Amino acid sequence: MLKYNIIQMSKKNLKVFDILIYGNPVLARKAEEITNITSEIKELAEKMVFTMHSTPGIGLAAPQVNHSVQLITIDLSVGEKPQELFILINPEIINQDGELLMEEGCLSVPEINEKITRPERVTVRAGDLNGNEKIFEAEGLLARVFCHEIDHINGKLFIDKLSSLKRNIIKQKFKKRIAAGDTG
Ligand code: ZN
Repeated sequence: MLKYNIIQMSKKNLKVFDILIYGNPVLARKAEEITNITSEIKELAEKMVFTMHSTPGIGLAAPQVNHSVQLITIDLSVGEKPQELFILINPEIINQDGELLMEEGCLSVPEINEKITRPERVTVRAGDLNGNEKIFEAEGLLARVFCHEIDHINGKLFIDKLSSLKRNIIKQKFKKRIAAGDTG
Protein backbone atom coordinates (compact mmCIF):
# COMPACT_ATOMS: atom_id res chain seq x y z
CA MET A 1 0.00 0.00 0.00
CA LEU A 2 2.70 2.43 1.03
CA LYS A 3 4.80 1.56 -1.99
CA TYR A 4 1.90 2.18 -4.34
CA ASN A 5 1.22 5.59 -2.80
CA ILE A 6 4.85 6.68 -3.03
CA ILE A 7 4.99 5.70 -6.72
CA GLN A 8 1.82 7.67 -7.42
CA MET A 9 3.01 10.67 -5.48
CA SER A 10 6.41 10.91 -7.13
CA LYS A 11 4.89 10.40 -10.56
CA LYS A 12 2.04 12.87 -10.37
CA ASN A 13 2.87 15.00 -7.35
CA LEU A 14 -0.67 14.60 -6.07
CA LYS A 15 -1.83 16.23 -2.87
CA VAL A 16 -4.15 14.70 -0.32
CA PHE A 17 -7.46 16.55 -0.03
CA ASP A 18 -8.63 17.84 3.36
CA ILE A 19 -11.75 15.96 4.43
CA LEU A 20 -14.80 17.95 5.54
CA ILE A 21 -16.11 17.15 9.00
CA TYR A 22 -19.70 16.68 10.23
CA GLY A 23 -21.34 20.10 10.56
CA ASN A 24 -20.02 21.41 7.24
CA PRO A 25 -23.08 22.31 5.10
CA VAL A 26 -21.56 20.74 1.94
CA LEU A 27 -22.02 17.30 3.58
CA ALA A 28 -25.76 17.93 4.03
CA ARG A 29 -26.41 19.02 0.43
CA LYS A 30 -27.50 16.87 -2.51
CA ALA A 31 -24.57 16.82 -4.91
CA GLU A 32 -24.96 17.84 -8.55
CA GLU A 33 -25.26 15.31 -11.32
CA ILE A 34 -22.23 15.13 -13.63
CA THR A 35 -23.31 15.72 -17.23
CA ASN A 36 -19.89 16.11 -18.77
CA ILE A 37 -16.75 14.16 -17.90
CA THR A 38 -14.26 16.98 -18.13
CA SER A 39 -10.54 16.86 -17.38
CA GLU A 40 -11.41 18.52 -14.04
CA ILE A 41 -13.67 15.58 -13.13
CA LYS A 42 -10.95 13.09 -14.11
CA GLU A 43 -8.43 14.98 -12.03
CA LEU A 44 -10.85 15.14 -9.10
CA ALA A 45 -11.34 11.36 -9.32
CA GLU A 46 -7.59 10.78 -9.37
CA LYS A 47 -7.03 13.02 -6.34
CA MET A 48 -9.91 11.35 -4.50
CA VAL A 49 -8.39 7.89 -5.07
CA PHE A 50 -5.05 9.17 -3.84
CA THR A 51 -6.70 10.74 -0.76
CA MET A 52 -8.70 7.57 -0.05
CA HIS A 53 -5.58 5.39 -0.27
CA SER A 54 -3.44 7.77 1.77
CA THR A 55 -5.89 8.43 4.59
CA PRO A 56 -6.51 5.39 4.46
CA GLY A 57 -10.17 4.72 3.77
CA ILE A 58 -12.23 2.22 1.76
CA GLY A 59 -14.59 4.80 0.26
CA LEU A 60 -14.84 8.51 -0.44
CA ALA A 61 -17.53 10.77 -1.91
CA ALA A 62 -16.73 14.07 -3.66
CA PRO A 63 -18.75 16.22 -1.17
CA GLN A 64 -16.34 15.01 1.57
CA VAL A 65 -13.54 16.82 -0.25
CA ASN A 66 -15.65 19.95 -0.83
CA HIS A 67 -16.81 19.12 -4.37
CA SER A 68 -20.60 18.89 -4.50
CA VAL A 69 -20.80 16.52 -7.49
CA GLN A 70 -22.00 12.92 -7.83
CA LEU A 71 -18.66 11.14 -7.86
CA ILE A 72 -17.56 8.37 -5.48
CA THR A 73 -14.50 6.17 -5.14
CA ILE A 74 -14.41 2.78 -3.40
CA ASP A 75 -11.57 0.33 -2.82
CA LEU A 76 -11.91 -2.38 -0.19
CA SER A 77 -8.28 -3.39 -0.86
CA VAL A 78 -7.03 0.19 -0.15
CA GLY A 79 -4.69 0.19 -3.12
CA GLU A 80 -3.63 -3.46 -2.96
CA LYS A 81 -5.74 -4.80 -5.84
CA PRO A 82 -6.42 -2.56 -8.86
CA GLN A 83 -9.50 -4.63 -9.82
CA GLU A 84 -11.19 -3.64 -6.55
CA LEU A 85 -11.08 0.08 -7.30
CA PHE A 86 -14.40 1.64 -8.31
CA ILE A 87 -14.71 5.19 -9.62
CA LEU A 88 -18.42 5.86 -10.13
CA ILE A 89 -20.24 8.79 -11.72
CA ASN A 90 -23.89 9.56 -10.79
CA PRO A 91 -24.33 6.22 -8.97
CA GLU A 92 -27.78 5.08 -7.87
CA ILE A 93 -29.15 2.03 -6.15
CA ILE A 94 -31.67 0.38 -8.44
CA ASN A 95 -32.31 -2.73 -6.37
CA GLN A 96 -31.66 -3.99 -2.87
CA ASP A 97 -32.52 -6.92 -0.63
CA GLY A 98 -31.73 -8.45 2.72
CA GLU A 99 -30.56 -6.69 5.86
CA LEU A 100 -27.23 -6.71 7.64
CA LEU A 101 -26.31 -5.04 10.93
CA MET A 102 -22.65 -4.01 11.02
CA GLU A 103 -20.48 -1.41 12.70
CA GLU A 104 -19.78 1.53 10.47
CA GLY A 105 -17.67 4.67 10.54
CA CYS A 106 -16.98 7.67 8.30
CA LEU A 107 -13.93 9.84 7.61
CA SER A 108 -16.21 12.89 8.03
CA VAL A 109 -17.39 11.74 11.48
CA PRO A 110 -14.04 10.81 13.03
CA GLU A 111 -13.80 8.47 16.02
CA ILE A 112 -17.49 7.47 15.87
CA ASN A 113 -18.41 3.86 15.10
CA GLU A 114 -22.02 2.68 15.33
CA LYS A 115 -23.96 -0.38 14.27
CA ILE A 116 -26.19 0.41 11.29
CA THR A 117 -28.58 -1.77 9.30
CA ARG A 118 -27.94 -1.76 5.55
CA PRO A 119 -29.15 -3.92 2.67
CA GLU A 120 -27.26 -7.20 2.34
CA ARG A 121 -27.17 -6.95 -1.45
CA VAL A 122 -27.51 -4.02 -3.82
CA THR A 123 -27.57 -3.41 -7.54
CA VAL A 124 -26.02 -0.09 -8.51
CA ARG A 125 -26.18 1.73 -11.83
CA ALA A 126 -23.37 4.21 -12.47
CA GLY A 127 -21.21 5.74 -15.17
CA ASP A 128 -17.46 5.31 -15.46
CA LEU A 129 -14.86 7.90 -16.42
CA ASN A 130 -15.26 6.97 -20.10
CA GLY A 131 -18.96 7.82 -20.02
CA ASN A 132 -20.13 4.20 -20.14
CA GLU A 133 -23.05 3.15 -17.99
CA LYS A 134 -22.51 0.00 -15.94
CA ILE A 135 -24.45 -2.20 -13.53
CA PHE A 136 -22.72 -3.47 -10.39
CA GLU A 137 -23.89 -6.21 -8.05
CA ALA A 138 -22.48 -6.10 -4.54
CA GLU A 139 -23.04 -7.84 -1.23
CA GLY A 140 -21.87 -7.62 2.37
CA LEU A 141 -19.24 -4.98 3.08
CA LEU A 142 -19.05 -3.81 -0.54
CA ALA A 143 -22.85 -3.31 -0.67
CA ARG A 144 -22.56 -1.33 2.58
CA VAL A 145 -19.84 0.95 1.20
CA PHE A 146 -21.86 1.56 -1.99
CA CYS A 147 -24.85 2.59 0.18
CA HIS A 148 -22.70 4.75 2.48
CA GLU A 149 -21.05 6.67 -0.38
CA ILE A 150 -24.30 7.06 -2.35
CA ASP A 151 -25.87 8.47 0.83
CA HIS A 152 -23.08 11.09 0.88
CA ILE A 153 -23.97 12.35 -2.58
CA ASN A 154 -27.56 12.66 -1.39
CA GLY A 155 -26.44 14.76 1.59
CA LYS A 156 -26.87 11.99 4.15
CA LEU A 157 -24.46 10.66 6.77
CA PHE A 158 -24.55 7.24 8.45
CA ILE A 159 -25.37 8.89 11.79
CA ASP A 160 -28.67 10.10 10.26
CA LYS A 161 -29.76 6.46 10.58
CA LEU A 162 -29.27 6.41 14.36
CA SER A 163 -31.96 7.16 16.93
CA SER A 164 -32.33 10.89 17.66
CA LEU A 165 -30.98 10.24 21.16
CA LYS A 166 -27.73 8.73 19.87
CA ARG A 167 -27.44 11.35 17.15
CA ASN A 168 -27.79 14.16 19.69
CA ILE A 169 -24.98 12.72 21.80
CA ILE A 170 -22.74 12.72 18.72
CA LYS A 171 -23.90 16.23 17.82
CA GLN A 172 -22.86 17.42 21.29
CA LYS A 173 -19.42 15.89 20.77
CA PHE A 174 -19.00 17.83 17.54
CA LYS A 175 -20.67 21.01 18.79
CA LYS A 176 -17.50 22.74 19.97
CA ARG A 177 -15.79 21.90 16.75
CA ILE A 178 -18.75 23.18 14.70
CA ALA A 179 -18.94 26.39 16.79
CA ALA A 180 -15.23 26.98 16.23
CA GLY A 181 -15.77 26.58 12.48
CA ASP A 182 -13.47 23.55 12.43
CA THR A 183 -15.44 21.46 9.98
CA GLY A 184 -12.65 20.67 7.58
ZN1 ZN B 1 -18.57 8.60 4.92
